[in-house]
Amino acid sequence: MPEHMSEERLQEVLTILDGMADDTYEDQAAGFLYDVRNELARSRSEENGLRAALIVAREEAALKDVEIARLQNVAQLLGTLAEGCSVHPRYHAVRACAPGCPTCDAMWRARQRLNKEA
Ligand SMILES: [Zn+2]
Repeated sequence: MPEHMSEERLQEVLTILDGMADDTYEDQAAGFLYDVRNELARSRSEENGLRAALIVAREEAALKDVEIARLQNVAQLLGTLAEGCSVHPRYHAVRACAPGCPTCDAMWRARQRLNKEA
């Protein structure tokens, strides 16, 4: 059986199918129908392979999106720490801050989230 049905073969099939009306090409018609079924099965298995590849590609893209989002989050947290507090320039969020300063609070929360990421 041909792996891929050629244009000529398809034309032949059409001719034979036309000829089926007078029952003189029964064997040939059966052979061609077999080819047609093989061709359909081949297309379907190719299609299934492509679908599977597409699913894998989508999953990989989704994982990359998740990783990018995570890195963007880390960059933002590092930015918060790097910017520091203008009122308390010596605070580096190594340990919890005294309550009351929203900037130092934000730095401490950023530090805790970064520790979770690491
Ligand atoms: Zn502060």
